[in-house]
Amino acid sequence: MRYISTRGQAPVLSFEEVVLTGMASDGGLYVPETIPQLSHEDLAAMAGLSYAEIAFRVMKPYVNGEIDDATFRGIVEEAYATFSHDAVVPLNQLDANHFLLELFHGPTLAFKDVALQLLGRLLDHFLGKRGERAVIMGATSGDTGSAAIEGCRHCDNLDIFILHPYQRVSEVQRRQMTTVLADNVFNVAIEGNFDDAQAMVKASFADQAFLNGARLVAVNSINWARIMAQIVYYVASAVALGAPHRPVSFCVPSANFGNLFAGYMAHRMGLPVTQFIIATNANDILHRTLADNDFSKRELVATLAPSMDIVVSSNFERLLFEAYDRDGDAVRALLERFQNEPAALADAPLAKLRERFASHRVDDATLLEVIREAHHRTKELLDPHTATGYRAAERARSDARTPMITLATAHPAKFAEAVVKAGFSGVPLPAHMEDLLEREERYTVLPAELAAVQRFVAENRR
Ligand SMILES: *Cc1c(COP(=O)(O)O)cnc(C)c1O
Repeated sequence: MRYISTRGQAPVLSFEEVVLTGMASDGGLYVPETIPQLSHEDLAAMAGLSYAEIAFRVMKPYVNGEIDDATFRGIVEEAYATFSHDAVVPLNQLDANHFLLELFHGPTLAFKDVALQLLGRLLDHFLGKRGERAVIMGATSGDTGSAAIEGCRHCDNLDIFILHPYQRVSEVQRRQMTTVLADNVFNVAIEGNFDDAQAMVKASFADQAFLNGARLVAVNSINWARIMAQIVYYVASAVALGAPHRPVSFCVPSANFGNLFAGYMAHRMGLPVTQFIIATNANDILHRTLADNDFSKRELVATLAPSMDIVVSSNFERLLFEAYDRDGDAVRALLERFQNEPAALADAPLAKLRERFASHRVDDATLLEVIREAHHRTKELLDPHTATGYRAAERARSDARTPMITLATAHPAKFAEAVVKAGFSGVPLPAHMEDLLEREERYTVLPAELAAVQRFVAENRR
């Protein structure tokens, strides 16, 4: 298995190279050259297996023998042993035919743990094999930063520097990052906003001279290994509900589209899926594209589901590549136009997407209603992202007989603000995090100056 770019002009890479690489040099994203197939028998044989074993079987063809089976199995088992539920990602039945797939039992209470617990260990493995070390830099407004830190805290060959805007991250989210006291974890509070932090990370990737030759790695959602890890829970949940003998549908609260694209890959590998529903908040580029063929940027809106606040859905490019029958030239032309002006999809690829994808947008006012309504009907307290999915699943599902699986992307305690706004008194943290507000914190406050941040990284990396 090799990996090619969605824009057709970057070098073809091995699995190891694709794990260590972020964006392709032609501006595209890496995807597998061919899509491995899970036969009816392969899927049927997964019934009753542990999550780690299903993960091993689903991901093995992508790893392509570049890690021996015993080592890879060990990496997978270790990654998912960090989850607090024995099922790793349990299904919770809400009513006759609507299920929540709880992806929030990892160390930071959101679904990004599923991918980042694996990615950190894969990076560490390949770096160790090469005798190299690497620096990870990222900016966060809350969510991804903590999942990346938890994924890397035990990695000998990685130093991680996460920038967050000083005093502009909720206390729970800050503490999930700053109470990790490992020697290779560096939290930097920037005296500025998220965009300042983001701009400094971008500038550091563009000119890496300050690192004196050390490798800089990104762990954002365009990394192929993150998609690969997320394919697994689509397969595992569908098998638990009767796949391959019975098809299912999925509804996914979406932003950069990495999560939903993984579901689409599971389907292309052979999983019977009737429908995918894309749930968005007011930042609705995916909904506008699918419903109105309006593929254009709009100004960012700050919502009560902040992890879905985006202008551009970076991983949507991977779906476009498939919709355009893997024509890299057509994808490049479309994305280049989209950079500068409103764009539209050609008729045939759009029609193809509409056969299996639907979409629904939920604004903040509706969201609060949905949290109350879902609690009244099911006794579940949904986090605001999951609530968006819950509503979209009910409004956009094409048939009531196919089981609907809505992905619960975060624990409500992580986004208590919206839950309190909806009229609830608050949400207790799960038992293993009860003492989060008493734990010791460590972080460094720096001015929003690129030179100061780069000096800090250069002096502290090991
Ligand atoms: C990141 C995130 C999302 C969006 O996922 P994408 O893969 O970017 O579409 C949704 N909900 C939560 C809680 C998240 O952290």
